[in-house]
Formats: sequence, C-alpha cells, structure tokens
Amino acid sequence: MKYIAYCRKSTDEKDKQVLSIDQQIAELKEFSNREYLEIIDFVTEAKTAKTPGREQFAELLRRIEKGEAQGIVSWHPDRLARNSIDGGKVIYLLDTGKILDLKFPQFWFESTPQGKFMLNIAFGQSKYYVDNLSENVKRGMRHKLRIGIWPSKAPVGYINDSRTKDIQLDSERARIIKKAFELFSEGRKSFTETSLYLFKFGIRSSSNKPIKSDEVRRILTNKFYIGIMKYGGEYHQGVHKLFISKQLFNEAQKQVIRIERPRRNGHDFAFAGLARCGECNAAITAEQHVKKYKNGSSQIFIYYRCTKKLKPCNQKYIPESEMETQLRKIIDDAALPHQWANDWYKWMDEDEREEQSLAEENISKLKLEIETLDKKLNLLLDSYLDQVIDSETYKIKKNELFEEKLKINEEITKIQTNGSSWLEPMKNFIGSVLSCAKIARAKNTSHDLAIMAKTVGSNFFLTDRQFVPTYNLGFAALCATPSAQRKSHGLFSKTLSVSRQGFEP
Ligand SMILES: [Zn+2]
Repeated sequence: MKYIAYCRKSTDEKDKQVLSIDQQIAELKEFSNREYLEIIDFVTEAKTAKTPGREQFAELLRRIEKGEAQGIVSWHPDRLARNSIDGGKVIYLLDTGKILDLKFPQFWFESTPQGKFMLNIAFGQSKYYVDNLSENVKRGMRHKLRIGIWPSKAPVGYINDSRTKDIQLDSERARIIKKAFELFSEGRKSFTETSLYLFKFGIRSSSNKPIKSDEVRRILTNKFYIGIMKYGGEYHQGVHKLFISKQLFNEAQKQVIRIERPRRNGHDFAFAGLARCGECNAAITAEQHVKKYKNGSSQIFIYYRCTKKLKPCNQKYIPESEMETQLRKIIDDAALPHQWANDWYKWMDEDEREEQSLAEENISKLKLEIETLDKKLNLLLDSYLDQVIDSETYKIKKNELFEEKLKINEEITKIQTNGSSWLEPMKNFIGSVLSCAKIARAKNTSHDLAIMAKTVGSNFFLTDRQFVPTYNLGFAALCATPSAQRKSHGLFSKTLSVSRQGFEP
C-alpha cells in the first residue's frame, strides 16, 4: 500500500505542542520506517485547517481519488482537517474505499465504525454527529469485548490487524517486551533502565524518546499480557495469543511491589510494622537520626520505639542493628540444617504412601457398601414386581437407599480429592525452614529478614528491648525441640499432624 504524507502548520498556530513542518517531516520519516510504510510523497501546507479551501489538501485528495496512493500519513488527524467539510471528505473517501488506511504517530486509527467515530472527534466535528454515532460505537466495542477482542489500540507487543479487525502478535516487539519482563523480574533493571532498554530496541514514545517510567510500569503490570483485558473498569477474558507466562508476570508484579515499598523520609524501614509494644500494646514505629561529624561526614542511625499512643509507657528505644541481631537469632532457631531435609522429604514420601494405602482401603470398603445397596435395590424392585409391596412403599424405600448411595459416593470423591492436600503446604514449609538458616546468616538482607520473621512467627512483642515472637505452627515444634532430637521421625510425624490440621501455605 502506498501512502502520501501530509504536514501542515499555519502561521497563526501558536501552540508549542504542534511541531514545525520540518519536524513533522522528520517524525513521519522515522515513523514510516518503524511501521514499514511506503511514502511516495511529502505534501506540506502552511495554512489553517479551520476553514475549507486549502490547495495542497485538495490536491492530496484528488491524487488519492485517482489511485496514486491508498493511504495518508500525518502527524495527527487535526493536521488533516479541522472543519466538518474537509473531515467529511476524508471519511467519505474511507467509506468508498478510496482511502484504505490512515496512519498517525499521535493517534491510533482503525477503519471501523469505532475508528471513524474517534477520527471524527479528532477532526473536531459536530456534537450531533458524535452523539448519533456513540451508541452504535459502544455496542460495537461491547461486542468485541464479549468475544474476547481488544477494541482499542493494541498494547506494545501486539498490533491491530486492519484486515481481520482483531489483535495479532507483533513477534519481534513481543520478544523485546518478554526480555524486558525477564530483566525486570530478576531485579536487574529498574523502570528507568527498562525504558532505556526498550528505547535501544526501538520501543519508544511517539516523540521518539524513551518512554516514561510510569508507562513502563503500566506495561509491566498490564494484565492484557496474561489474557485479561480491563476495559471501562471491567475485566474481560481475551482470546489473543500470549507470550508472557503467568509465572513470569507474577514475578514482575512481585518486583514492582518490592520497588514501590513505602519509604518514609526517603528511608526504608525494614522492620516497621513488625512488632507491638509488650508493655502497652501500642505500635512500634521507626525513626532515623542523622549524626553529623565535624569533618563534614554524617552517619544515619535508625531506632525503633513504642508510639505510646494508647497510654503512658516506660519502654525505651532500640537501635535497628540490635533488632536485626535478635531477629537473626529468632529465625536461626527455626532453621533446619540442610542435610536433614532429605530425611524429611523421605519421611514425607513414606507418610504419603501410608496415607494412600489407607485411603485405598477405605475406598474399597465404601465400594463394597455400594454393592450391598445395589443388591438391596434389586431385591426391592423384585418385591415390588412380585406385588409383595405396594408402589408407595417401594418409592419411599427406593429413595432412602438411593440417598444412602449418593452419600457414599460423595465420601469416595472426598477421599480421592483430599488425599494429600497437606502435602503442598508441607513442602512449602520445609522450603521455608531450609531458607531460614541461609537468611539468618546473609548480610544486608533486612527485608528478607523481616519477611522471614513474618513467616516463622506472628504477634511479635517488644519488651525491654527484647523481641518475643509467637512461632507459627510447625516452626514452634522445631524451636521447642533441642537440636539433637529434631532429627527423630517422631518429631516429624508430630509436625506433620500439626500441619495436616491447619498449616497454612
Ligand atoms: Zn509501649
């Protein structure tokens, strides 16, 4: 398809947002390279578009009608038309198929009723026309959403297919976006660095600059990439092909949260919100003090203290370093030495097998019961057919037996599905216990410490500068047991039985 580029800026246009004609030409050249558009000519005009009567514009339309080109490229629709007559001409050529496509770096256009509607708004046309169209357009958009097709400009990595009117994968850009998701999730790139990475590979703002960080954030958190379309505040299931796995997407979301952790006074207090005061039950808050030295250098000290908001309280400050030491000890107490893990997993397998055979045993018992019930049902039918019992008695008895059978079947399903529901949480638990030791010893991991502390314990209280945790289920069993005994199978079963009752994953 061939395009003619149209650039316009009138001398009375004081708007600084509007690029000069030379700038428009440069931008359109860059844009057409990026979008693989064949431009056969650049037409320029220094006149207002508010009234009809531009020579170059009229000439442009004549050339299109003659078939010299089938598309127009322009900076924005308002470069083409700003009055209803010229705007109407463009729409007319679209409707009659003389113009097949319009491209604007600043505006997304699709040759559908919706697209023409948006174009009209951009041309600044009459409100009457807009009102008439809008209901039809809304209906069209709703229909698209219902069948799972994104009704608007495709997110980067996808393109709007003007032939099929749906969304297709833009394989090259999809690969760049995927790589960006990966680099970001691994914590190797910030929003700004991701933007520069995208810029390097040609994903840029419409003014050919690196895209802003909040736009990067929008891309990295856009559920569209996992098939969920949010439109008008509502979620819809999309049918477009995916190139970002759910797992990768979730990793990216975690990283976004990590980056955006609340920071107060420009400082990030790792242990804020972790504990309450053991004396008065008020919240513990963090404060930073900057100590300035005579030689000009300074050092930051972080303290945690009771807010004393509930009642008078005698508790004193605790330095963050002291808090950290105590937390390391608490976490280390809940740790499981690495070499024991294999034993644990082995015992878990044994327990699982044991449980499985028990379940099988139960199921075969229940199946026997069903057989007995079936026999009874047969007998009942025989008696009815032999006219030993009347039809009323038959019905009542039959329903009774039937219900009993249903109950047993339900029980079988329950055993089959719940068989090892404790296994996953248990495996997670062992994973946590294993990482305890590692985290307790690692340096510079205040945040990991805080997260791990919340995994092993809850309801932390701070009394006389001492942390007192309530260990969570499972971890409590570990801490209460002297190390020498931890290895015994007995403890494992005990922990397991706790886990089965209510260990939360
Ligand atoms: Zn207090």
